[in-house]
Amino acid sequence: MKKAISVERVKGTSDQMGAERAAVRCIQGILQDFLASYGYLEIDTPVLEHTELYLRKGGGGVLSKTYAFTDQGGRRLSLRPEFTASVMRAYIEHGQGLPLPLRWQYCGPVFRYERPQQGRYRQFTQLGLELLGSASPRADAEVVALACRALEAVGLKHYHLVLGHLGTALQLLESLGLSERAKTFLLLAIDQLSSKERKLEEIIRDLEEAIPVRVSEEEAKLGASLHSLEPAEAQLMVYGLLRDSNGFTGGREPEEIVGRLLRKLANRDEKKRVEQALDFVAQLCRIKGEPAKALARAKALVTKANLDLNPLMQLAHIIQLLGEHGLEGANITLDFGLARGLAYYTGMVFEIYHERLAKERQLCGGGRYDGLARALGSARDIPALGFACGLERVKEALEAAGGPTQSNLPVDALVVSRTPRAYAYALRVADFLRGAGKRVEMDTKERSVRANLEYAGRRRIPQVVLVEEGDAPRHRFLVRDMESGEERYASFGTA
Ligand code: AMP
Repeated sequence: MKKAISVERVKGTSDQMGAERAAVRCIQGILQDFLASYGYLEIDTPVLEHTELYLRKGGGGVLSKTYAFTDQGGRRLSLRPEFTASVMRAYIEHGQGLPLPLRWQYCGPVFRYERPQQGRYRQFTQLGLELLGSASPRADAEVVALACRALEAVGLKHYHLVLGHLGTALQLLESLGLSERAKTFLLLAIDQLSSKERKLEEIIRDLEEAIPVRVSEEEAKLGASLHSLEPAEAQLMVYGLLRDSNGFTGGREPEEIVGRLLRKLANRDEKKRVEQALDFVAQLCRIKGEPAKALARAKALVTKANLDLNPLMQLAHIIQLLGEHGLEGANITLDFGLARGLAYYTGMVFEIYHERLAKERQLCGGGRYDGLARALGSARDIPALGFACGLERVKEALEAAGGPTQSNLPVDALVVSRTPRAYAYALRVADFLRGAGKRVEMDTKERSVRANLEYAGRRRIPQVVLVEEGDAPRHRFLVRDMESGEERYASFGTA
C-alpha cells in the first residue's frame, strides 16, 4: 500500500500542548490580571481586517510582512500583523461616545511573513494595551512603567528599557514641507540607520530612485530662471518659451514637457531637502546612551539646527515620571535612533530587551501614535499610545532566566483507585481536590500502582493519591509526595 504523505504545520507556526501551552496560558493570565488591576479592560478584534487599514499609516517594516490576499468576493484583506490599528478602528466605529481616556488590553494571535528562526515566528501571540485620549507625559510614563512592571509580575528581572522620541525628527520633516513619500522614506531611513541595517551612503543611493531628478542641461538652465517664481507663473513662462523655440520638445506636447519639468525641479528641490534632513537625522540617530548624557547631546544638536526643544523636554519629563513610578533603578538607555519601523508613531517610543534571550531579545515595544485616529477616518485627533509584547518570547526569556512558572506543573495530583470497587470513591476524592483548586488527573488505564507512580514521575506530577475501598467510610485517602516518597493520610477536612 502506498504510504500517505503527512501534512505538516505551516513554517513559522507552532503547536502548543501540555506543559508548554500551560506555561503560555499562565503568563497570559498573570499579565491580564495585572493590566486589569490598572483599569485596562479587554477588547477583542477580528483576525481579518481590510488591507487598507494597514496601508493608511503602516509604512515600512510591518506592512511589507503582512499576509494580504484577495478573498472570493474580491476584497483585499489581511491577517492582522498587530492590534493597534484594529483597536483604533474599533474605537472610531463604536467608541467615540465613550468618556476618555479609555484603557484597553488585548491578547491574541498575529501574523507576519518573517524568516522563521528561534524567537521569530510567522504566527505568534501579542498581549498589549492601548491608552486612548491622553496627551500628557503621565500617560507615556504609565504605559512604559506598566510594560516594565508587567514583566516583573511574571518573574522577569534583568530587562533593559530603551527609550526614544520621534518628535524631533518629525518636526524637522514638517518644517521642510516634504511630501508624504519623502517623509516615509526618511522614517524608514531612521530605522535602517539605527538598526545599522544600511549605511548612510546606501540610503542616499536609494534616494536617487525614490525621488528621480535627472535633469538635462537645457532643463537645468530653464529651471534656474524659474527658481523664484510661483508654480503657476513658472508654468506660463515655460509655456511661452517653448512656443517661441524649436528647442528640446522631442515631439512632445508643450503641456507635457512643462508638467514633467516642474515635477523634476520640485523633486530636485525636495531631494536637496531630504539630503539635509538625512544628514541631521544620521547625527541624531547616533545619540545613544545613559539618559542625562544622551539628552544633553541631543539638546546641543537640536539647538544648533534651530529646532524646537519641546520633544526633548517631554522625554526628560517622562524619564522623571518613570522615577516617580519607582523605575529609577531600571536599566534605561536613551536611543534617538529608535524608530520602531512603523510610520504611525509620533512621539515617545520604547522597547524592552532581555539579555538572556539568545537571538530575538526584544520582549516588548510601543509608543505614542497621536496621528493614527485621523488617518483612519476620525474627525478629530485622539492622542493615544500603547505597547505589545510577544508571549512566546516572554516564555522563552523566563525559561532562559531559569525562573520556574507554576505552569511547569501541568497537573497537581494523579488519583489512582487501587481496586475497581474503589473507583467511585476515587472519583469523589478527585472532585473534592478539584474543588480545593487543584488540577487533578484520574487514572483511566486501570494500571498497577507501580505503573502509575512511574507515569507520575515521568509527567512530573508532584502528588499521587492512592484510594482504597476501606478508606471511604473514614473519609480519608493516602497522599504520596513524589519528591520525598513520603505518604500521609488526608481527609476531606484537611486536604
Ligand atoms: P512589534 O509590534 O514589532 O513591536 O512587536 C511587539 C512584540 O511582539 C515584540 O517585542 C516581540 O516580543 C513580539 N514579536 C514581534 N515579532 C515577532 C515574531 N516574528 N515572532 C515572535 N514574537 C514577535
